[in-house]
Amino acid sequence: MRKHCEDTLRRQALRKQLVKTVREKGIQDERVLDALMKVPRHCFMDNALDSIAYEDRAFPIAAGQTISQPYTVAYQTELLQVKPFEKVLEIGTGSAYQATILAELKAQVFTIERQRELFDERAKHYPFVAMYPLLKFFYGDGFKGLPTYGPFDKILVTAAAPYIPQPLIDQLKPGGFLVIPVDEEKAQRMKRICKNPDGTLSEESFAFFNFVPMVEGKNPR
Ligand code: SAH
Repeated sequence: MRKHCEDTLRRQALRKQLVKTVREKGIQDERVLDALMKVPRHCFMDNALDSIAYEDRAFPIAAGQTISQPYTVAYQTELLQVKPFEKVLEIGTGSAYQATILAELKAQVFTIERQRELFDERAKHYPFVAMYPLLKFFYGDGFKGLPTYGPFDKILVTAAAPYIPQPLIDQLKPGGFLVIPVDEEKAQRMKRICKNPDGTLSEESFAFFNFVPMVEGKNPR
């Protein structure tokens, strides 16, 4: 992540190509595709990866973590159906790319990271602070959610969850969604849990993905 980050016509052209690829893989929500076009992904990665930042794949970031593949980001965001000014909790800030896509959709974003190193980097050097005043960073354990700021309209987990943490269900508003990749044998099954207006839950299952693990507790480094 860099403090100053320039966009160029060349990068915009690469981004356009990326959006086309993601669309061809099945993403249809035009608001999500627009957000992907607007957010300069190279700004969330090391300079050394500049020339490949617009490939549709995950890349390493600090603390042994990854920036998710754009298709995965688009897939999760599409499932979340974010509307302007909804309160959205994200577990796993990582590079802050996904959080910025949510902010671009005008959500009030609360994003939590357990790696102090990543949190410090985002909180201090996030390049778009002024552009997204509704995006807030927290250092903490996503298994616990963010009880003092809840309940949330939507919750998004961007790490491989061993199970569905109850505090996240508790912090969901009635009518809200939780989108979470849950461990099955070799990969994670994308799930969307809906808290119905009467408080009961319904669960839908989608495709398989590969995320870095969701780990309990904080890592001060
Ligand atoms: N959304 C990120 C994806 C990063 S990878 C992006 O767009 O780049 C997943 C992130 O989840 C990692 O940074 C990892 O440290 C974090 N993570 C794992 N377990 C967590 C937990 N219990 N609480 C908060 N963050 C967690």
